[in-house]
Amino acid sequence: MKVSPATAQTARIAAAIDKLASFTEADRPYTRLVFSPEFDAARHWLADAFAAAGLVCHIDSGGNLIGTRTANLKKANGDKADGTKVLIGSHIDTVPAGGRFDGIAGVIAALEVVHYLNENQIELPFDLEIVDYLGEELNVWGTSCLGSRHMAGLLTPEILGRVDADGRQLGNEITRIGGTNLGCDKVRSDADQILACLELHIEQAKILETQGHDIGIVTAIPGIYRYGISVKGQAGHSGTTPMADRQDALVAAADIIQAINRLASDIARDENQHFVATIGKIDVFPNGAAIVPGQVEMTLDMRSASAHAKSAFLAAFETICRDCVTRRNCAVDVAPLAAADIAPMDSDLMQNLSDSAAINGLSAIKLASGAGHDTAHLSRFAPAAIIFIPCRDGLSHCPEEFASNEAIAKGAWVLTSCVLALAGKPFQAVAKQ
Ligand SMILES: [Zn+2]
Repeated sequence: MKVSPATAQTARIAAAIDKLASFTEADRPYTRLVFSPEFDAARHWLADAFAAAGLVCHIDSGGNLIGTRTANLKKANGDKADGTKVLIGSHIDTVPAGGRFDGIAGVIAALEVVHYLNENQIELPFDLEIVDYLGEELNVWGTSCLGSRHMAGLLTPEILGRVDADGRQLGNEITRIGGTNLGCDKVRSDADQILACLELHIEQAKILETQGHDIGIVTAIPGIYRYGISVKGQAGHSGTTPMADRQDALVAAADIIQAINRLASDIARDENQHFVATIGKIDVFPNGAAIVPGQVEMTLDMRSASAHAKSAFLAAFETICRDCVTRRNCAVDVAPLAAADIAPMDSDLMQNLSDSAAINGLSAIKLASGAGHDTAHLSRFAPAAIIFIPCRDGLSHCPEEFASNEAIAKGAWVLTSCVLALAGKPFQAVAKQ
């Protein structure tokens, strides 16, 4: 029986997903932490898969695995300057007990673009780099997106010098897998020759599935801001301190938590933008059953796809803290801990991706990302855009995470049409029936 191209493509995708899923801690599927033996083995397999697709592989100074399909200007009849390039990639590391598709789907879809070009003997006027960005997930060194941060010059010597509980220094781990750490605090030197950075990722939410769309064109990756909130009252005997005289830091903190939750809900609704705020970490002192709490330290994690929503929140947050000082007779201090600004996606690329979905007969909507991605860092130095594909029940970072082979194939068509358009080729559908 003749195998139809569609079957061949989805079968190839399925085989790659299954193969990568096999590189896991045996008793904790699917766990492939960056720099683990499972990660190293998966990287070797991926480098072989890149090479089999005709890509020339290398590991850059930041430990990213890059497979290059070199430009052929003569055959491509392109008019773009030599040395230009387009990057497509995602990541193959996972969180502990994570899924089989987060990041992985994006790397496999990027490889599908190469297979299409090879099968149709299409030459491009720019280098196409397929990238497995190093260590996207938050790791024991407290930093996510190692590879894309490195390309953006944001992997500082301080971060590289961090040592984990087993004595492993981050910089040494990058060297061990083939990086050099050179230029870690400088933007990739050929940044001005990069025409586009593209990524496909599972949505990790259920808007696409619920609304029945094939593709999400991401408008922005939210800014992530963390603040330490310190509430100081007065510890005292729980039996003898009258209610009216208390300076209970935990009661004050509870007021703040409730108010933040209400405020964030209002802003998310009123601004119609992705906006979330969470207090997920709290320490109470002295933390005794018979003691009025004297001090609370907690962390606010706020994520916003809109600068306006962020400033509206911060203004109201200040009022919440001031009110709490008056009402609960406690001191409240807020200190910024970390910030990564909102990363708007490139509007020309978004249009290109939207047209690419349409020409392939796919339905697409624009949406904001809830999570952080490598593309946020890439967008700091080059035009960048990311598309989402549906994942079942919106589940992610768990073994139940699932995206169909067909959904990944459709996403790959969109990336391929986008690359062909960037190459100045006649804009075309690549959907395989
Ligand atoms: Zn991911």
